[in-house]
Amino acid sequence: MTYPAFAERFGALNDLLNIANLLTWDFRVMMPPGGAETRGQQMASLMGVAQTMLMSDDTLRLIEAAETAVADLPDGATERLAVDHARAAVDLHRRIPAELNQRRAALNLTGQAIWADARARNDFGMLRPVFEEHVDICRRLADCIGYDAHPHDAMISIYEPGADTASLGALFAELRAGLAPLLAEIATAPEPRSDFLYGDYPEDRQRAFAVRIAEAFGYDFARGRLDTAPHPFEISQTREDVRITTRFHRNNIVSALQGTMHEVGHALYEQNIAPELTRSVMATDLLGLYAVGGISFGVHESQSRLWENQIGRSRGFWERNFGALHDLFPETLAGVDADMFWRAYNRVRPGLIRTEADELTYDFHIMLRVEMERRLLDGSLRVTDMPGAWADAMREDLKLDVPDDRSGVLQDMQWSAGQFGIFCGYTVGNVLAAQIHDAALDAEPAITPDLERGDCSRLLGWLTDHVYRHGRRDSREDMLHRVTGRGMDATPYIAALNARYRAIYALD
Ligand code: ZN
Repeated sequence: MTYPAFAERFGALNDLLNIANLLTWDFRVMMPPGGAETRGQQMASLMGVAQTMLMSDDTLRLIEAAETAVADLPDGATERLAVDHARAAVDLHRRIPAELNQRRAALNLTGQAIWADARARNDFGMLRPVFEEHVDICRRLADCIGYDAHPHDAMISIYEPGADTASLGALFAELRAGLAPLLAEIATAPEPRSDFLYGDYPEDRQRAFAVRIAEAFGYDFARGRLDTAPHPFEISQTREDVRITTRFHRNNIVSALQGTMHEVGHALYEQNIAPELTRSVMATDLLGLYAVGGISFGVHESQSRLWENQIGRSRGFWERNFGALHDLFPETLAGVDADMFWRAYNRVRPGLIRTEADELTYDFHIMLRVEMERRLLDGSLRVTDMPGAWADAMREDLKLDVPDDRSGVLQDMQWSAGQFGIFCGYTVGNVLAAQIHDAALDAEPAITPDLERGDCSRLLGWLTDHVYRHGRRDSREDMLHRVTGRGMDATPYIAALNARYRAIYALD
């Protein structure tokens, strides 16, 4: 009975982390503002219980007993992998001193509050000491985690195991070479008309369209719900309860469309984890202490981007769905056809704010951040020089001047919460979205005609079989080799962007 006892312990840990997710959802969707302080205490207490459970001597004994029990199973057996994952996570947590964890947790909370204030006042000086302490903590954390080449590698391994400074540097060089010339060509081409995207779009009808798209992609409302939140997100309490949020702006249809398709993509991943992995190590991020079925931040992002971009930005998608949108907003979209809408929806316009960036310029925002993280952690960039380095990078890549720090280094919350290493997952996600999408279409030719008829079920079925149902069983590299026959490859992504934007801007 040694393996069942191990499995039940990690099942209970998964329960606690799912409860934390529910508190987070409530905090971001339903909670009155007055609840913030006591909710913070509740979350801290709950996460303390989860941490204690994971790190207890009793749990260590359960892992040791389970290691003996599964030793004779074949290499790829799920039980054996589960015990290996648990052992690796506990060993890593045990290398980090409690004092460092406490200092980090305390600074994460105060850092986010100071960030909100500093951004409102456009005052980088307020945040500088927070960043300096975070960089110091991250360097110590990296020493505890261990790395071969660069302290940034250790931080990246928390969020995106399988990536490192060297592989990202090579990827970024390839992306710059593949995308910068296209961006330069577009800068001199006439812009498609897009004023109608910002006409009158009553919220209830936007919601009706969002539900229609979610259902068409295969989102199961019997195990989910769609709410509104200022910053859209997806969060799950096991595969049986996977919630999404979006936002509706009356004079902007783009925000709700992109937000809904993106979060539905995340949700399809979680809703289609194999039922037998529920409450298991394979549905738990034991490093980040987060209940989630996706392999890594980047792999999860690949599925939100696959549905949002590879499907939702395609010409075929709008040929099939524009009619329904037009029926909901006949006056706002009077005189607009599917082709005009598709071109407007994909308009490229370099901007200062990452979360508002179009598909083609998004990665430049990420590369700037990842390169800045690397230089901060190895000491080649001082915190005090961040605003200047930010301005230089924006001018170099997007030809934009940064008028103030609010539109520059102060725009994101992540670094104030100590998440140095998280940004690379967005670009990894973009790249993998195209690679996995192409692999699906190559492997199963019937997917394409089905999509042309508006039937996404065969694509969803393929993704479920090959990616979703496996949960966190495989490493990112093993999954990619199994699914695409090779490691991460930016070629399909660069080709997809060139094809889409050359068509939209009538280049060549
Ligand atoms: Zn996402």
